Amino acid sequence: MSLGIVYLVGAGPGAPDLLTLRAARLLESADIVFYDALVHPDTIALATRAEKVAVGKRHGKHSAAQSFINKRLVDAAHKYQTVVRLKGGDPMLFGRAQEEIDALTEAGIAIEVVPGITAALAASADLGISLTRRGISRSVAFATPRVGKEEQPSDWAASLMNADTGVLYMAAHEAKEIAAQLIARGKPAQTPVMVVENASLDSVRHVSTLDALARTGLPEFSGPALLMIGEVYRDALNAAEQDAVAANAVLKRRC
Ligand code: SAH
Repeated sequence: MSLGIVYLVGAGPGAPDLLTLRAARLLESADIVFYDALVHPDTIALATRAEKVAVGKRHGKHSAAQSFINKRLVDAAHKYQTVVRLKGGDPMLFGRAQEEIDALTEAGIAIEVVPGITAALAASADLGISLTRRGISRSVAFATPRVGKEEQPSDWAASLMNADTGVLYMAAHEAKEIAAQLIARGKPAQTPVMVVENASLDSVRHVSTLDALARTGLPEFSGPALLMIGEVYRDALNAAEQDAVAANAVLKRRC
């Protein structure tokens, strides 16, 4: 039997209807699907004929080691014709896609990548605030402070110093330290920070400044979240501050 093809498929940010038609068709024809923890159950359910295998990664929870996932993908391509590796958002952004592509290519297995909507774009859509804006933001950095166990420390903050808008993945649990670090590097303390949790689903937002975040951190949250940093969020910050003033005035009148 000939070897199968492994498709690295972007599942999008969460909402099951933010999936490309190509991804949906591949899921329908897949023999086996390996999926991440953040993928919506309705998306996985599109793979009606496939064996479904969870290889999820979620903050602080146990997950299959990357080398083990690579091996399972190689083995699956020896057994099945259509193997789908379903990843949250876009596979090529913070998804360890390259490690899987390299392992598969080394084993002589053909791969194809199907893009998906990354979390930053879904969050921007939810907010109705563009990542770029004439006169305010002409560059965007996607970065993460997260490094793997055996990796060198990275200078992720440099990219945020140089970009007008910065979007940080896998960062919200360390929001306080991150804000302090950016201020220490010279980012103005009053720079607006937008936090979006669960983009494209029941998304929750929280807007403040680097300074406020460095002092108090974020309220409790459990879903995946992004830190979005830059002047494009200034109007949203001003509006939230005015709402807070108005709410305080109402409280005072009631007392
Ligand atoms: N490949 C994915 C990113 C994987 S890294 C993509 O392109 O979106 C996982 C991180 O993505 C999470 O820690 C969080 O920072 C972010 N993320 C994923 N889904 C999200 C969502 N629905 N809302 C907000 N952030 C999300």
